[in-house]
Amino acid sequence: MNKNVKGSNSNAFNTPLLLVCNKQGEIFEIPHLLMTGTSVSEVRLPTQDELIPMPDGSELFILPGRRPIGFDPVKNELVTLTEYQGEEVFAVAAFVAPAHMQFLHASFLKLEAAVDLPIFCYTAVGWRKNKFYVTAIRVDEDERQDAKHFNNQLITKNANSFLKKYSHNRLVVHLIENCVKQYCCPAARNYVMSRWEAPLPSSPGCNSRCVGCISEQSKDSGITSPQHRLTFIPTPDEIAEIAVSHLENAPKSVVSFGQGCEGEPLMVADVLEAAIILIRNQTSKGIINLNSNASRPDKIESLCRAGLDSLRISINSFQPHYYNQYYRPVGYQFNDVIESLKMARKYNKWVSLNYFIFPGFTDLPSEMNALENIIQTHGINLIQARNFNFDPQLFITKMGLNSIDEKPIGLINWYRHMRNKYPQVHIGYFNPHNINKDV
Ligand code: SF4
Repeated sequence: MNKNVKGSNSNAFNTPLLLVCNKQGEIFEIPHLLMTGTSVSEVRLPTQDELIPMPDGSELFILPGRRPIGFDPVKNELVTLTEYQGEEVFAVAAFVAPAHMQFLHASFLKLEAAVDLPIFCYTAVGWRKNKFYVTAIRVDEDERQDAKHFNNQLITKNANSFLKKYSHNRLVVHLIENCVKQYCCPAARNYVMSRWEAPLPSSPGCNSRCVGCISEQSKDSGITSPQHRLTFIPTPDEIAEIAVSHLENAPKSVVSFGQGCEGEPLMVADVLEAAIILIRNQTSKGIINLNSNASRPDKIESLCRAGLDSLRISINSFQPHYYNQYYRPVGYQFNDVIESLKMARKYNKWVSLNYFIFPGFTDLPSEMNALENIIQTHGINLIQARNFNFDPQLFITKMGLNSIDEKPIGLINWYRHMRNKYPQVHIGYFNPHNINKDV
């Protein structure tokens, strides 16, 4: 751990206070210690421009078996806190609301007996002037997943009327019974509100074995996947019934294949192709988007020809060895992903990256060079800066990030660099609804 704290005294006095939690689950601030944030192995004070009030829709997490690390501005040193006023204390983190990119992870010392954390994101959070502050920035002004738009009563009422109207459609039943009622999926909730982006999960299978898969984890991984994978393949008619009514009636309408509750949609590309043709025979409205691991360029070509409008490629790194370590591909290679990107560009389709943001890795010069090489060589339209949902210290160990002999530039500098050097590439969070399909 880095004992010499950078920029310690200069901005210490505006820095929010350290937050901790006791055994009763009560979260409170430590009056003499400041919050810190972590970037792989560096623990430091956040800078003022890295801090924002915690956005609505964020959640606070207590981190069991982990001691909080604060900064003592008087002694000018980091302090790992075990107890406060005789009470044992634990670390606290924020799961920041959608549309926000994190800059630093919460700082903590993991105790030997501590269990791995579930598949969420753990951002640094502190307390100042009666407010929670997080190290993050809003990267997308689109409000489709803002908490203020989700009225549970109305959503439940609409969900039940959808169930009545579409009881014959297995996919609608899955979206309502699982995605709306169990997983509280914002896309499924927007579907029953007939607005913005709706999900079209379709595939029980996948040809990746992602370390952090949210729909399926192997028994020996010791990690619980927060969602259960779809168990059936919907028919093109079932998909088209949902998509056409949504594209026709919803404002800013997008329908997206590739959701958290399924495997890889390209595994059932023939069904998607038939569904897209059915949809475009009935409506030209809105956007048909594919969220994918982009493992099969041949299937991407057939979907582009059928009328797909945009492709979002999920990816943790453009360095093949880190890609392979995380995705553990089965029957495809990293280069197939790049070929799929090129294929979508060949058909002038909008290409987004679902780019996993990990403080201390994403902002490494080697990773930035790899990303910039893709932008310069093939071109992309949008980087969706998605906070990587995984136990940060477990990820560092699994990916061997502690042995990297490079210094990250800081995610706020990564953000500024990408925006200044590539103004043609949007940095956002959501699949766009207003792309020009006639390019
Ligand atoms: S590509 Fe998606 S469904 Fe497949 S293993 Fe990775 S996260 Fe899971």
